[in-house]
Amino acid sequence: MAILRPFEKDQDKSSPNRNIAPITAALDSQERLSIGGCLLSSLAEKYGTPLYILDELTLRTSCREYKDALSKYYPGDSIPLYASKANSSLIISNIVASEGMGVDVVSEGELITALKGGVESSNIVFHGNNKSKSELIMAYKNDVIIVLDNQYDIDQLREIVPFGKRKAKLMLRFTPGIECHTHEYIKTGHIDSKFGFDPDELESIFLQFKDIEWGELIGLHAHIGSQIFEVQPHKDLADVMASALQTGRKLGHSLNALNLGGGLGIRYIASDDPPSISDWVEVIAAAVVKACRERSLDLPLLMCEPGRSIVGSAGLTLYKIGSRKEIPGIKTYLSVDGGMSDNPRPITYQSEYSACLVDKPLIRADEVVTIAGKHCESGDVLLKDFRLPRSNSGDVLGVFSTGAYNFSMSSNYNRIPKPAAIIVGNGESELIQKRELPEDLLRNDILPDRFIAKG
Ligand SMILES: *Cc1c(COP(=O)(O)O)cnc(C)c1O
Repeated sequence: MAILRPFEKDQDKSSPNRNIAPITAALDSQERLSIGGCLLSSLAEKYGTPLYILDELTLRTSCREYKDALSKYYPGDSIPLYASKANSSLIISNIVASEGMGVDVVSEGELITALKGGVESSNIVFHGNNKSKSELIMAYKNDVIIVLDNQYDIDQLREIVPFGKRKAKLMLRFTPGIECHTHEYIKTGHIDSKFGFDPDELESIFLQFKDIEWGELIGLHAHIGSQIFEVQPHKDLADVMASALQTGRKLGHSLNALNLGGGLGIRYIASDDPPSISDWVEVIAAAVVKACRERSLDLPLLMCEPGRSIVGSAGLTLYKIGSRKEIPGIKTYLSVDGGMSDNPRPITYQSEYSACLVDKPLIRADEVVTIAGKHCESGDVLLKDFRLPRSNSGDVLGVFSTGAYNFSMSSNYNRIPKPAAIIVGNGESELIQKRELPEDLLRNDILPDRFIAKG
């Protein structure tokens, strides 16, 4: 398989998650990089740095690939739900909804972002291993599907849903006991996970729910982890879930939905080799069909919840290179004007990225550098031992595949304001998130009167 450099003209446009850069990446006559028809160095000039960029076509292409593959490979009804924790904003909610996707949310903030962005409440699924009472009230009032994660959810909801009123629509999340190869922190399918019911508890939950007036069990959910490149774990998952579906249906629940979670990986660096979105969907669809046929079960509504593979490669971040520190014979540090506050993945998961100088993407790399952030933390390094052409202060560095788990995990560490975000397409750019100002960070600070010097 060919190695795809972020700036290569002929990327594998068939599946965005197999590209490091957005699918609209192109070079102008001076071999400078543009995305969505916009020259990146001009965007840095216009909006400042650090800057999050979202490529509309890449995002829409990922959504369509999930939708189309589900229709093609799954004979029953299906809907992909975007896992909004990957990157939650009005614009992304709006775009995924316009592509016919639902959304999964885990907080009131993500829920209002989905609703205000235009996602229909019947296409919203509410998750969480410790939902607050107000989250559950909001979820019930908006008639979204609530995923029961534990007995505490059940006990709280029983109090919340008024008797004789509309039943809550419920799914049951369980830990399927499936291991996958990914980072320890993003595994969720193993038995000692904090999420979901133990498989041994399912039968008693099904029995408990037989005569419940306030809620209806409409389906089952499991999610096994994130940034997964193998398909076998999801094949196994389909079988485990079909078996649980059979148990539930035998005990009188209609259970017409099966939600296999998300987890498909993306290409951050050239050696990453995830299956394409459609290959992944084909495998899980076939596995669900097979597992249901073997048990003579009517096909359920098939749901999946991709996050990273929807927005990851649609995003990139621009930084300006500032200081240079050369430690002879050891290392050269180039520092940029952002870092772990806008991208905490390297320091959290030791994640790797690809990058280039946006105005010199094709120039041969002639030095090995470490790209450091500006935070007061030695571990604040975005790229380690990375090959780059000789650069100067003020050059713009583009870091690819930052669409997922960057903005959504960003912080104000060192009281650094969050970057602006823009959307690009057809040669146009528009602001989708204002740049925070230092004053914004004082918004919630209070200095009680007695601390204010009397004059
Ligand atoms: C995080 C998460 C997802 C999305 O995972 P990705 O790896 O981003 O596709 C889906 N479902 C649940 C319940 C999650 O927690």
